[in-house]
Amino acid sequence: PFELAGKTVLVAGHRGMVGSALVRRLATENVELLTVSRSEVDLRDQAAVDRWFAARRPQAVFLAAAKVGGIVANNTLRAEFLYENLAIAANVIHAAHVNRCEKLMFFGSSCIYPKLAVQPLREESMLTGPLEPTNEPYAIAKIAGIKMVEAYRNQYDSNFISVMPTNLYGRGDNYHPEYSHVVAALIRRFHEAKTSGTKNVLVWGTGTPRREFLFVDDLADACIHLMKTYSSGELVNIGTGVDIAIAEFARLVAATVGYSGEISFDTSRPDGTPRKLLDVNRLAKLGWRAKTSLEDGLKLAYQAYLSENRQVGE
Ligand code: GDP
Repeated sequence: PFELAGKTVLVAGHRGMVGSALVRRLATENVELLTVSRSEVDLRDQAAVDRWFAARRPQAVFLAAAKVGGIVANNTLRAEFLYENLAIAANVIHAAHVNRCEKLMFFGSSCIYPKLAVQPLREESMLTGPLEPTNEPYAIAKIAGIKMVEAYRNQYDSNFISVMPTNLYGRGDNYHPEYSHVVAALIRRFHEAKTSGTKNVLVWGTGTPRREFLFVDDLADACIHLMKTYSSGELVNIGTGVDIAIAEFARLVAATVGYSGEISFDTSRPDGTPRKLLDVNRLAKLGWRAKTSLEDGLKLAYQAYLSENRQVGE
């Protein structure tokens, strides 16, 4: 076990959806929380990261900073997704090592698993086959981060661990019409259709791909649990263990938002990987399971969308 209480804890990426959920969750732990704003320390800048770590020497690090986005963002900004995520992982993991950080948690992603790996995806399937092309740059950067964690652990005995969250949603999501993930995209599209009286909403792809969705506050809870109790080198998937077809998911979002018009599919848009469902047996054995149902989580996410948008509008 790792005693989190009394420690200085860096949440890298605290403005993002994952980082801000970690900050909310850590408020109930007895820790000294450290964050860095992008203007203060650009995590892609090795010298800036080194200076900050040498001065502040955090005892624990949640490395939740990343360049992220939905299927179109991943597929379009391929250079940025590869470069920025490699740089952030390399700089922060190495600085944590140099400054004797006691524990670090690196955030991978379910997209690191091969496109056609056996479902549900087991941790062992990493690097057993080709990746889904639409998010290969992001996945390669994340695999590099995972391999850094593994190498520093093996060579220096560092207590660094890697977790693989499934597709996430909730407070602090990005609602960009083109670059967001599917949950934020559909909440916004159905809400705007309801508000404007539009009678048809387009959902990307064929509707047949299956995805697993985890409420981000559940993810944060799982991460605190693992930070305290898990110190092994094997990856740990974090998900619900349940998936849903995009078409059915779209109907659920429409019902949550109160949109009652038609739903059509824009097959000129990419489907991405056919199915992405994590095997969460390892996590269950470690004593954690998701608490928020998709129905409840979507209601909370829609409320968050409404209040976050009000703030932006004011
Ligand atoms: P992925 O898991 O990396 O593919 O991430 P996304 O959240 O971007 O997409 C998940 C699935 O939802 C894919 O099959 C998309 O084609 C589908 N999808 C349907 N409508 C949308 C949309 O408006 N935006 C996004 N990003 N995906 C959508």
